[in-house]
Amino acid sequence: MKYYSTRDKSLRMDAAEAIKMGLSRDGGLLTPETIPQVGQAFLRSLVDARYQTRAAKIMGLYLTDYTEEELLSFAGNAYGPDKFDTEAVAPVRTLDGKTHCLELWHGPTSAFKDMALQMLPQLLSAALRKTGEDQTACILVATSGDTGKAAMEGFAGVPQTKIMVFYPKDGVSKVQEAQMVTQEGDNVGVCAVAGNFDDAQAGVKRIFSDTAVRETLAGRGFFLSSANSINWGRILPQVVYYISAYCDLVRDGKLEMGDQVNFCVPTGNFGDILAAYYAKRMGLPVGRLICASNRNDVLTDFLRTGVYDRNRPFHTTMSPSMDILVSSNLERLLFDLSGEDDGEVRGYMAALAESGKYEVSDAIKAALKEEFWGGCCDEAGTAAAIGAYYKKGYLIDPHTAVAASVMKQYRQETGDETVTVFVSTASPYKFCNHVLTAIGEIPKGDGVELLDQLNAATGVTVPRRLAALKGKVRRFDLTCEKPDMDGVVLNFLR
Ligand SMILES: *Cc1c(COP(=O)(O)O)cnc(C)c1O
Repeated sequence: MKYYSTRDKSLRMDAAEAIKMGLSRDGGLLTPETIPQVGQAFLRSLVDARYQTRAAKIMGLYLTDYTEEELLSFAGNAYGPDKFDTEAVAPVRTLDGKTHCLELWHGPTSAFKDMALQMLPQLLSAALRKTGEDQTACILVATSGDTGKAAMEGFAGVPQTKIMVFYPKDGVSKVQEAQMVTQEGDNVGVCAVAGNFDDAQAGVKRIFSDTAVRETLAGRGFFLSSANSINWGRILPQVVYYISAYCDLVRDGKLEMGDQVNFCVPTGNFGDILAAYYAKRMGLPVGRLICASNRNDVLTDFLRTGVYDRNRPFHTTMSPSMDILVSSNLERLLFDLSGEDDGEVRGYMAALAESGKYEVSDAIKAALKEEFWGGCCDEAGTAAAIGAYYKKGYLIDPHTAVAASVMKQYRQETGDETVTVFVSTASPYKFCNHVLTAIGEIPKGDGVELLDQLNAATGVTVPRRLAALKGKVRRFDLTCEKPDMDGVVLNFLR
């Protein structure tokens, strides 16, 4: 199967090339030319399979230039017991007859980014081999917390790769910072930037487009690549867990094969919910896709009106991974809903670049209404959902709480009784401070000290890698000013 750019369909390539490049050179997103279909027979064949097998079979439908053995071995490495704290990998927890929660944070960094970032480095490493690449890939990441750690954990020790992560000095939680600065591995680097997330992100983009830096690096045997969710190698592993959740529900007698489910997804860059959309397009019986936002409600407005307008205040919230005004992966959805009209997509993206705003066609508006429902939830609503779920015996993190709250609104407004799975994207232990407050405790101290307090208050087990942070030695203590990020990269890649 070939992949092509959402902005120019004549740019076609194999999966390996698409994963190696990350982003198309015209700025478009690389997208599969056809969407493979899964019938009931295929789904039945997965019902009794383990997660690793499901992953290899589903990804194999798209990655036709990778062998089944390769994919099985990658899935074995990515989702094994040394990485994930449950054999189920992505377990579905039943809350009541029509409500289930898909837990995606059982991996090494306790956020759902692990589901893809344990897989992507292996796909990329194989892609270097398959395309005869002899240079080393250097992954540059700007992170607001979860992606940086998950990417380092995935790339640590992977041959022919290096990874450098920039995070905003005062913009990540203490637990997230502790996770990053204690990262092991010879091919990793971490640096705090004196600035906010946008500064770090802008700095990384500047380095990517700096031809002088690129040439110097090429002379030393390096090329730059991305582990951001614009890379198809990050979206595909996420399609797997929606299909896997459906198979679990059928296996456990909670659904009959063919029954519909809704998915409710806490959304930032639109990667996770886009994967659910692909699962639906592949033929998985999915009803509505409920898109949950925090106070940064640009997607809620878009899904309701068809107008995307980023010209609005940016709010910092207790669900920081969803604090985002430009959701890059929306471009892949627009491409699909426009009937793969690259010219139409180019027009929307040009308007976005120029005025921060675009309005989609009536045909796309109708399709959005059919497939999606958008809702948002403020800080008080997020805290209230954490408190309400805790009373029911389930401790959830702020991102998951946004999903839970929007799911409730959806049901009240539409009366839809379809079985619904909401997605849990992080362990509550990554955000002890806010979670403690929401359940009526007063946080004492900061950072990793709060792990014990939350554990003492709730009795919920601390993920073992987070518990181990307390004894870990800090390996990185580098801070730079905004204009000096390229110097840090040049120094790192010697
Ligand atoms: C990244 C992230 C999200 C948002 O996912 P997108 O794919 O960007 O929509 C939600 N919750 C958590 C905990 C995250 O780390």
